[in-house]
Amino acid sequence: MRLERPADVDEAPLAALDLPDPVPGPGEVVIETRACAVCRTDLQIVEGDLEAHLHPLIPGHQAVGPIVAVGAGVGADQLGRMVGVGWLGSTCGQCDMCRRGLENLCRAATFTGWDRDGGYASRMVARADFCHPMPAGMSPEDAAPLLCGGIIGYRAYRLTGVTRGDRLGLYGFGASALLVCQLAVHAGCEVYVVTRGQDARRRAMEGGASWAGDLGERPPWPLQAAITFAPVGSVVVEALESVDRAGVVVVNAIHLDRIPDFPYRHLYWERRLLSVANFTRRDGRELLELANRIPIRTVIERHSLDDANLALQRLKRDQVQGAAVLIP
Ligand SMILES: [Zn+2]
Ligand SMILES: [Zn+2]
Repeated sequence: MRLERPADVDEAPLAALDLPDPVPGPGEVVIETRACAVCRTDLQIVEGDLEAHLHPLIPGHQAVGPIVAVGAGVGADQLGRMVGVGWLGSTCGQCDMCRRGLENLCRAATFTGWDRDGGYASRMVARADFCHPMPAGMSPEDAAPLLCGGIIGYRAYRLTGVTRGDRLGLYGFGASALLVCQLAVHAGCEVYVVTRGQDARRRAMEGGASWAGDLGERPPWPLQAAITFAPVGSVVVEALESVDRAGVVVVNAIHLDRIPDFPYRHLYWERRLLSVANFTRRDGRELLELANRIPIRTVIERHSLDDANLALQRLKRDQVQGAAVLIP
């Protein structure tokens, strides 16, 4: 399903094409896509809100399937391995960020389904060293939706540094927050959710939260850490007011309107405020293993690959139940 020219998804900009099998370059593999989840970033790329770096482009950056061909320099023992491919398509491996274990911040990184053709296809090419090994027993369609917002949520959770007995606040409660809630509860943390909407608060309590309140409500105890998911600056200040001394607030948002002025005392006593950007391969590997072990349940809505336009239309209208997954 190839994007010839960005357009409103109602104009069905993705065209079903029968293309020759892709050929892996050195260090690359071909994956037979079994499932590819649909992300909001795909919608932005397809509609041109985020300019594609390839024309034409096959979108998709949450793909899972077995390796069916290997390029030069990749061992034949890789054939048949089940792997996942996420947004991080490659990094330079040499810059300061890469050498410090912060490859998520590499300025020369390439991204799947943006700089490189992605998973809206029955076959795709990926760098062998950027394929995430799939834990045994994990189904491609359950794993695919974890490969973007799920891994970034995990990174945000990891950056909070919370451990058993700590209190973690989650501001906003979508799919990524639900995943973090399950991870934190599994690790023995107490989770406090602040979000609009009774449905979301009910889902939070069902997901194992100890308390759920509306925006503007303060959790009953000071928190060791909080993650904000809402792209709203005032929520960041609210979270900061709820963390204890030495507490940390991780902002899980690519865009934020602006953070309003706030008194310095909200930051004093060694509180920290930091953003989260993309993820590393380590984050991906750890999350998949954890998700399989806990196990994390994902709610998915299956679509055939040919229906990629329809899946994007449903995503745009907030009609998707859980995560939309394309099955070639
Ligand atoms: Zn780099
Ligand atoms: Zn994504």
